[in-house]
This record gives sequence, C-alpha cells and structure tokens, in this order.
Amino acid sequence: MQQTADVAVLGAGMVGVSAALHLQARGRDVALVDRHGAAGLETSFGNAGLIERASIFPYLFPRDPRDLLYYALNLSPQAHYHLSALPGVASWLLRYFRESGPERAKSHALAALPLVERCLEEHDALIEVAGAGELVRRIGWIKLYRSESRLAKGLADAERLREFKLRIEVLDADALAALEPDLARVAGAVHFLDTCSVADPSAVAQSYAALFQQRGGRFLAGDVRGLQQTRDGRWSVPTHDGQVIARDLVVALGPWSDQIFRPLGYDLPFAVKRGYHMHYAVAEGAKLSHPVLDADNGYVLAPMTRGVRLTTGAEFARRDAKPTPVQIDWDEKLARTLFPIRERLDPKPWMGCRPCFPDMLPVIGKAPRHQGLWFDFGHQHHGFTLGPVSGRLLAEMMTGAEPFTDPAPYAVDRFR
Ligand SMILES: Cc1cc2nc3c(=O)[nH]c(=O)nc-3n(C[C@H](O)[C@H](O)[C@H](O)COP(=O)(O)OP(=O)(O)OC[C@H]3O[C@@H](n4cnc5c(N)ncnc54)[C@H](O)[C@@H]3O)c2cc1C
Repeated sequence: MQQTADVAVLGAGMVGVSAALHLQARGRDVALVDRHGAAGLETSFGNAGLIERASIFPYLFPRDPRDLLYYALNLSPQAHYHLSALPGVASWLLRYFRESGPERAKSHALAALPLVERCLEEHDALIEVAGAGELVRRIGWIKLYRSESRLAKGLADAERLREFKLRIEVLDADALAALEPDLARVAGAVHFLDTCSVADPSAVAQSYAALFQQRGGRFLAGDVRGLQQTRDGRWSVPTHDGQVIARDLVVALGPWSDQIFRPLGYDLPFAVKRGYHMHYAVAEGAKLSHPVLDADNGYVLAPMTRGVRLTTGAEFARRDAKPTPVQIDWDEKLARTLFPIRERLDPKPWMGCRPCFPDMLPVIGKAPRHQGLWFDFGHQHHGFTLGPVSGRLLAEMMTGAEPFTDPAPYAVDRFR
C-alpha cells in the first residue's frame, strides 16, 4: 500500500524523533521511519544520559605528547583503536587534529553555543508534555580528578567556562565526600550544576515518539536503504507497510547516515567513535546519586534504572567491525577502586557509535544538490543533548520560519 506524507524522517533516535515532533508542531504531516519500528534503540539507547548544558568546548583531539604516546600505543583507557581501521580513518583523524587546534576549537565551540545554550529548554518543553519528568534528575554532574595535577588542569578548564555564566562548584575531597559518600577519596572534583541527566535515555526517546504518535504522527518500520527520488522530485521510502511518498526527506540516521548520503553523491568527512556500556549491581547500602566522570581515565559512572551504567571513552574502529570491549574490562577495574560496584548485569557489553565530523559540529540543513533533501546528523558525543534543539532549527528552516540562530555553521557544504 502506498501512502503520502509531507515529510519522511529517517531514523528514530533522539535526533530523528525530535525533528519529527518539531515538524509536526509546524503543521507538517510527518512519517517517521526506523528499521526497528521503535524509537531510541541504538545510540540513543546506550549513552550516559547527560543533557550536557555545560559542555561548551567539544571533545578535542589530544595535543599533550604524553597522552598522544599512550593513545598511539593503545595504553590509555580513554581511547582505543583498531590497527586495521587506521588506513580508512587516518585522513579523518588528521582533519580532527587540525580542527582541534586552539583557535579552530574555540571557533567551533562558539558556533555550537546557540545549540548548547538552548538544549535544556528544548528538552524541557518535550519532557513535560511527554510525561518523562520522572526520568530526569536536575542535580548536575561531577568530573572528578584523582591526582592533583589533573585536578589543576580540570580547574583551569572549568575557569574557562565562567564567562558562559554556568553554575560551577569546585569540590575539595571533603565536599565531594559529603555529596557522594560512597566514592573513594580523590584529589577533588568540579560539579556542573546546569547539566541534567536521565535514568533511561531510551525511555525518554520512546516517550517523545509516543507523543509524536498521540499527536497523529505515523511511525513506520522499514529499512530505508532502498529509497529513491521519483521523477517529479519526491522521495519514495520503503517501509514494511509499503512505500511512503514524501515531498521532503530528513536523514537522521545517526551513525548510519552515510548509507544514504554517500549513494546520493555527498562526500562528507564522517566517521564514528564507538563506545560501550555495562550495568553493574551496587554493594548493599551503597548509592551513587550523580553521574560521575573519572576524568583521569575517561569513563562515566551513571546511576540508571537498570543499575550503575559505566560508559567508555572512544574507540576508533570501523562502525561494523566486531565489538572489542577492552575498555569495559579496563574501566571496570578502575571503577572498582572508585565506587563499590558488584557483578555485571548485562549478558554482554552494549556498543554504540557516536556519529562525528572533524569539527565536532553536526550537519543541520538542506542538502544542496537535491530537491527536498535535508540532513540532521553528526551530533558526536552530544546527540542526546542536542536532538530537540536541532529538530527545532531544522523545522524552522524547512518551514520557512525565522531560524532561532544562524544555521550557517552547520551547513552541509562547509567541508571543502
Ligand atoms: C558510550 C556513549 C555515551 C554517550 N553519552 C552521551 C551523553 O551522555 N549525552 C549525549 O548527549 N550524548 C551522548 N552520546 C552520544 C549520543 O548517544 C548520540 O550522539 C546520539 O544518540 C545520536 O542520536 P541519533 O538519533 O543521531 O542516532 P541513533 O540514536 O543511533 O538513531 C539512528 C536511528 O537510525 C535507525 N537506522 C539506522 N539505519 C537504518 C536503516 N537503514 N533504515 C531504517 N532505520 C535505520 C536506527 O535504528 C536508529 O534508531 C553517547 C554516545 C555513546 C556511544
């Protein structure tokens, strides 16, 4: 059976669901399509659940020679790489290195700022109507530093954020112990109070998708790789319920977006940083209240509905290569010295892929060479945070409304 829609949104992660809601709110008849027929089951499932209002500066390619040596030798828990992936990813890494230089990194941070500043407001507008409030904690998150030298660097980084008017508290060992009594004593920590977190990111994405459906949106299952543009310029998207014919198409397939943009002839510098998670039981009587980053080692412990979730740093590997969760094993040992986690609760580590461009900015906007083709992906470490605000910007552009910010920094053709 064939059906029509104004817009087909491909991908029902946090980014696609949010775009669908914003387009619907502006009067568009939207069909949301995902191969799972359910929302938030991929990258938006397994992240650390942070709505990272305080993350002004992007995750940069390290420049410290000692760090670089550790990464090169695969000796750091923060990052891991597959030797076999290097030929494919080397030029991307070089570009990432260049974009991480002090001047460019600052300019990218300022370019992302309008999105970051509005991220929580846009989530809040959805959380309330979607009835997801119970999943949200408004107590910030903590970056802790085990050594004095790392703490000094962490405090300097936090100081750079003061100009952005964020609520930041420096915690000495006693103050941290008062907030999180079951953590081991460390040199100190920084508490970012503006950040929110959720106890189940997938459930939040699903509540947004349910809202979209309650408001009359169609949510269809299907693998969209066979999509085609018809002679009259519309898009024909395959689903299990037949073709959806839509005037506009939004690609929001997160780390799989290249499966659509490459065959359409767009050569974008797109790569993934893989990451893992594992849930743990907690020793009787112990409690972790805040998400905590062990900044010396690059993993997060976050209290979640299913237990304490440990999420790892980045792994550079082909997206579809076999999972190699060595960072989970490594981080788990370190985490056990920090907080009394007990046995693993998942049968195997979960793996997800952060969709990334070298400037750590997403692509949000019109694809220049095709009628009715729009992109909304590449939200790197912060797609859960930035989904709703990106959806607003995209919907404003697609419906001819005044965009709340200049979309030029996120343009598809910024890569030359
Ligand atoms: C370990 C880890 C921790 C993270 N922590 C955080 C955090 O705390 N805060 C934060 O903001 N971000 C975090 N991130 C990043 C964040 O999870 C991602 O940026 C975000 O989930 C990307 O959302 P998305 O909607 O673009 O992609 P996804 O959530 O991956 O959604 C893409 C969708 O496309 C669908 N799809 C793919 N191919 C097809 C196809 N051929 N046909 C139909 N459907 C298809 C998939 O089924 C999926 O539902 C983390 C990531 C990782 C890996």
